[in-house]
Amino acid sequence: MFLVTDPETVLGRLGPEPLSNEFKTRDLQRILHHRKRILKPLLLDQAALAGLGNIYADEALHRAKLHPLRRSHTLDSAEVKALWKGIRATLRDGLRHNGASIDWVYRGGDFQNHFRVYGREGEPCPRCGTAIERMIVGQRSTYSCPYCQPWKDQSFQGQPPKEG
Ligand SMILES: [Zn+2]
Repeated sequence: MFLVTDPETVLGRLGPEPLSNEFKTRDLQRILHHRKRILKPLLLDQAALAGLGNIYADEALHRAKLHPLRRSHTLDSAEVKALWKGIRATLRDGLRHNGASIDWVYRGGDFQNHFRVYGREGEPCPRCGTAIERMIVGQRSTYSCPYCQPWKDQSFQGQPPKEG
């Protein structure tokens, strides 16, 4: 929460609101391709995109079938579209289960009963049944399905980098 006399001093530093009608796939594409960063920390960066917390980011990446350590500029247009849809679907889902508030803690809502990957290490992926894995990316717990979100990035040979 911010208390300022001129909202622009705060809002000017926030990225676009993903659920707004003005937010198109080309806007996401521009963010991803210009910033050239690891996907997960980029999604959490409020200066890039407003309103995505740690849980929403993992859920959106799973919906989009994208590895959390993919580098943002390596996504092709189909993957950008999938991520755009994944982010919006996740946010809408969160809103539906929480009433009107977007709350990082999800107090009072039942969204936590509907997580696809977050907090579900070792449990079956709802899409394919593979055990969900946990790793640390940018010092945050990150959950993904190794089958649905395979590592592929032309700019790295073999294994993903250790840290986001
Ligand atoms: Zn899966």
